[in-house]
Amino acid sequence: MEANILVVNCGSSSLKLAVFDRLHNKLVSALAERLNTDDAFVNIAHADEPISLPAGASHETALRALIDALRDRGILAQDPAAIGHRVVHGGETFRGAALLDDDAIAAIGECAGLAPLHNPVNLAGIAATRTLYPNVPQVAVFDTAFHQTLPPRAFLYALPEAYYRDWAVRRYGFHGTSHYFMSREAARLLGLTPATTSIISAHLGNGCSISAIRDGISVDTSMGLTPLEGLVMGTRSGDVDPGLFDYLAGKGVSAAELHEVLNKQSGLLGLSGQSNDMRSLCELAEHGHKPSELAIDVFCFRLAKYIGAMMASLTALDALVFTGGIGENSSQVRQQTLSHLRLLGFELDPELNQSNGLYSDGRIDSADSRFPVLVIPTNEELVIAREALRLAEKSQPV
Ligand code: AMP
Repeated sequence: MEANILVVNCGSSSLKLAVFDRLHNKLVSALAERLNTDDAFVNIAHADEPISLPAGASHETALRALIDALRDRGILAQDPAAIGHRVVHGGETFRGAALLDDDAIAAIGECAGLAPLHNPVNLAGIAATRTLYPNVPQVAVFDTAFHQTLPPRAFLYALPEAYYRDWAVRRYGFHGTSHYFMSREAARLLGLTPATTSIISAHLGNGCSISAIRDGISVDTSMGLTPLEGLVMGTRSGDVDPGLFDYLAGKGVSAAELHEVLNKQSGLLGLSGQSNDMRSLCELAEHGHKPSELAIDVFCFRLAKYIGAMMASLTALDALVFTGGIGENSSQVRQQTLSHLRLLGFELDPELNQSNGLYSDGRIDSADSRFPVLVIPTNEELVIAREALRLAEKSQPV
């Protein structure tokens, strides 16, 4: 039996695991949440027996518990062939996935200043799996790497150039693994060659970002130095006027408070006063809740403006692609967004849109649309599994 591939995604208080076989079929996924709190818990998808975790369990404790449970179930009966880790920030150091040796790990640590909530927990996950599996090749796949092809005109802020030179202040972009997957999957569905396919991809989940991908490479994206810039998100504001900081400081709002508000109390939640969850807001709006209707309106209008903005980086457009929990499931958001872009020639087929493109190879555009519009379920774990195996095999030629 061939060894499987383990995919690890450590968030600030959560841990997701997935196991793939060598043919890239997902065998199992598991989730640990509320780590480092008294309510820490783990769950293996479709498992009958619960797995217990001690209160306050760390990422490492949860990882060990899950790996033991998967071993007992025969899914990780032998050591994996490769382990792939999602790492949020690779700065300008990483332009692609990297085999994790001591130098790469140190470089990820050096990027931690740019993602202080994420890179340290990613490193904790890497340290734990290295201890558990010292002889298995481990690979990092970065959220930022796919966007390292942005030209300076797209990644530079109009700030004093020393900010970039001395402090690495620039736009990095995130969700790169998802945007990469969408560009390849769109090319496949449309029967095109990835290296000559140009798309606009909108990843709309709890976090939201959009990318212009020209001839297979990312040339612009909406997230910036941090994942706060750009679109309206579940609890994040997206773009605001930087003049806000000074104005609110005058009102006694500290930088730390504003950081918290912009990241955790804004976006759909802030506007609706009810929920960060688009599905709930659509239901509330249907029952006449005006603030929810307004939140959806702001969300769709900002998204429409960004779709227009992404056009500036393209000379051709093979498809507009939607993904993420909202992008894959909300016909209302897609319809409402594109209703602002009639001038550009996007037209949806109401029935195909309603069915989320499920029976039409992802296509939801109508016959008279100027551009194809697709819905594609994203699969970042699959990309991480593929990259992990690819680099592991390169490092250990048979
Ligand atoms: P994700 O982070 O990709 O899991 O996406 C989460 C978001 O997708 C939440 O805002 C959900 O409410 C939203 N979502 C999932 N299903 C639907 C749906 N059927 N309609 C509208 N939004 C949805």
